[in-house]
Amino acid sequence: MIVAMKNDATTVEVELVVERISSYGLNALDLPGGERHAIGVASAIPPDLRETLAEVLTSMPGVDHVTHVSRKYKLTSREFHAADTVVDVKGVKLGGNEVVMAAGPCAIESRDQLYAAAKAVKESGGKILRGGAFKPRTSPYAFQGLGLEGLKLLRDAGQEFGLVTVTEVVDQHDLSVIIEHADILQIGARNMQNYPLLTAIGKTKTPVVLKRGPSAMIDEWLLAAEYILAHGNSDVILCERGVHPLDRDHTRYTLDLSSVPVVKSLSHLPVIVDPSHACGNWKYVSAMSKAAVAAGADGLLMEIHPDPGAALCDGAQSLKLDSFTELMGELKAVAGAVGRTMA
Ligand code: PEP
Ligand code: MN
Repeated sequence: MIVAMKNDATTVEVELVVERISSYGLNALDLPGGERHAIGVASAIPPDLRETLAEVLTSMPGVDHVTHVSRKYKLTSREFHAADTVVDVKGVKLGGNEVVMAAGPCAIESRDQLYAAAKAVKESGGKILRGGAFKPRTSPYAFQGLGLEGLKLLRDAGQEFGLVTVTEVVDQHDLSVIIEHADILQIGARNMQNYPLLTAIGKTKTPVVLKRGPSAMIDEWLLAAEYILAHGNSDVILCERGVHPLDRDHTRYTLDLSSVPVVKSLSHLPVIVDPSHACGNWKYVSAMSKAAVAAGADGLLMEIHPDPGAALCDGAQSLKLDSFTELMGELKAVAGAVGRTMA
C-alpha cells in the first residue's frame, strides 16, 4: 500500500500518517520521492485490515490518495515510486538521461594491466572502472583473484584516473573491506539469490549493481532487488547479463534485451547491460552494446583488457583497448539516435 501525500502536506501530517501505520504493527517507510512525498507500507497487510486501513489513512489530513501495490515486490515497483530513480555515485548518475559506461578487466591481475585499462576508460569518456578482486570461478583451480591486493590497486587506479569503481562481493565476510576500497558493490549472477548477502548489502549505504541470475525470471530478479531496498539501501542498479542459452556453440548466454524495457516499465530502478558475459566472445560485444543502448539501457558494464590473449580470466570476451575506444565513439551516435547522451 502507498499513501501519496498532497504536495503541500506538512512534516507533522507525514509523521502522523507514519505513526498511524505503525500503530497497526505495520512497517511504514518514508519515501520523499521525486514528485510528491509518499509513505509505503512495506509489511504484508492482513486481508481483513486492508479496506479499513485504506479508509482511515485516506481521511487523514495531508493525504491525497492511497493505492494498493499489486506486485510481490513493493519498493522496487513503479506503482510504489513512479519517477525514475537516479543513483548518484560521487556525481556519476545512473538512471538519468545520460548513458554511463563502466569498463575494466574481468579480474584485476596487476597494476600495469589495471592502469592501462583505467586510462582507456578515462580517455574515451567512461565513468566507472570495473575489476574483480574476488572471483567466483567455476573451477576451484582457476585464478581466484588478488583479493585485498586487488582492492588496493582498484582504489588507487580509481583515484589516479578520477573514476568511480565497482567490484564484486562474493562473500559477505569481505563486505566491510570492499566498502572501504570501492564505490559500488557488484552482486554476481551466481549470487542473485544469496539472500544473506542481499540482506547484508541492504544494510549498507553503498550503491550496488545487482546482476540477473542466468535462470532467473524477471520477477525473481526484482524480488532480489526488493531484499536490498527493504533493508534500507535504495541505490540499486539492475544489470542484465544474459540468460541460459538455447545454443552454446556460438554465445555463452543469450542476452535478453527485452528485459530492459520490461524492467523499466515494472520498476523505477536504473538498468544496465553487461554484453561481455552474455556473448562470451569479444566479436559480438560491440553490436550488442549498441543494441542495449538502443533498447533503453542506462549504462553498460563490459570487460576490456590490454592483452586479452594473456588474460587470467574471461579473455575471450574482453575487448582490446583500441576496439573499446572505437566502440565508445559509435555509442555516442546510438545514444543520440534514441534521445540520450553518453555521460
Ligand atoms: C563478472 O562480472 O566478472 C562476473 C563474474 O559476471 P557474472 O556474475 O555476470 O557472471
Ligand atoms: Mn568476467
